[in-house]
Amino acid sequence: MTRNASFPTLLPVYKRIDILFERGQGAWLWDRQGRRYLDFASGIAVTALGHAHPHLVAALTEQARKLWHVSNLFRIEQLEKLADRLVANSFAETVFVCNSGAEAIEACIKMARRFHWHRGQPERHRILTFEGAFHGRTLAAISATRNPRLTEGFAPLLEGFDVVPFADHTAVREAITPQTAAILIEPVQGEGGVRPVPAECLRGLRQLCDEHDLLLIFDEVQCGMGRTGHLFACEAADVAPDIMALAKGLGGGFPIGACLATARAASGMTPGSHGSTFGGNPLGCAVANAVLDVLLEEGFLENVRTQGHYLRERLEALRARYPDRISDVRGLGLMLGLKPAMVNTDFAARLRERGLLTVPAADNVVRLLPPLVIGREEIDLACETIAAVLEEGGS
Ligand SMILES: *Cc1c(COP(=O)(O)O)cnc(C)c1O
Repeated sequence: MTRNASFPTLLPVYKRIDILFERGQGAWLWDRQGRRYLDFASGIAVTALGHAHPHLVAALTEQARKLWHVSNLFRIEQLEKLADRLVANSFAETVFVCNSGAEAIEACIKMARRFHWHRGQPERHRILTFEGAFHGRTLAAISATRNPRLTEGFAPLLEGFDVVPFADHTAVREAITPQTAAILIEPVQGEGGVRPVPAECLRGLRQLCDEHDLLLIFDEVQCGMGRTGHLFACEAADVAPDIMALAKGLGGGFPIGACLATARAASGMTPGSHGSTFGGNPLGCAVANAVLDVLLEEGFLENVRTQGHYLRERLEALRARYPDRISDVRGLGLMLGLKPAMVNTDFAARLRERGLLTVPAADNVVRLLPPLVIGREEIDLACETIAAVLEEGGS
């Protein structure tokens, strides 16, 4: 067979921007031409400690010299350490480690179904989810959102999800049936447009779950791991889930995800019920432990909140100065969104031309997701760039 030379060798599922980065350092990236960019995208909230953080580089290279993979047939020291530390610093009593956000969500969904099955109520398998949510690209994850942009052409979808309007307590209450197993929600919607769920809504969901014996699942794949200025976003609302998905920032750029749970919620997950070949490998866990070393340092998260406040204040000031060019500033910590009057992707392109990387989201929002190690001067620089684009105006 001859190759169809007109078809790209890379499956064309992305609209890639034509920039090829060669190296990174902290909040900065350099492309092949040596042009420097200030990175307020962080690989979509992944490189939480910036690029080439010395502690992460050391952890990865040290582990790379020792051991890469042994499989879950055996004990894994770095994995055990990571689980112990996630448990010590969260609501959770047990951890399953995988390789991505969608896989973490899969584990959450399977755990919730298995919980009720294990208790003799297999009919309780439906999960309530929210409009505007994003949980990843596996079949279960796209079925959970029923967003046509994600699901078109992939039917039949997985049964068992009921989508309700965002932050509508009455709708949630009315959607609960004897078949409901769990509620799945991002405490701060990321792809949906940086929409924080109000603390009282999260508390209301906790109460509903307790009343109806449902499991509360938080998808903190994007908003977790210090992004909002707390190790987990739900801490600010003082609400604990029964199950939580993590990924993105967890490995600081190394692919790793995790499903955290209480012992009760995990009670159905017996040996053989779930697994992953790569999940929990020593390389990923060594890096995640190194990320935790830094996030848990005294004062680190406090500084994320301080820098987040500062960035937000500056964005609010820009909004006051250009009220017809920015209609909203939203978000928590260093997970902030800006809603420009012009098309968000055009706005992001203009920022990029001036050397600032951001990430578009739904609801015409531009996400500002700097590394959590961002400093005041870099924030000032980013805001000057945003101001320049706003000043220039246009549509
Ligand atoms: C990115 C994301 C996912 C999916 O993570 P992948 O690693 O791309 O599978 C799931 N949930 C949320 C909230 C995310 O932001």
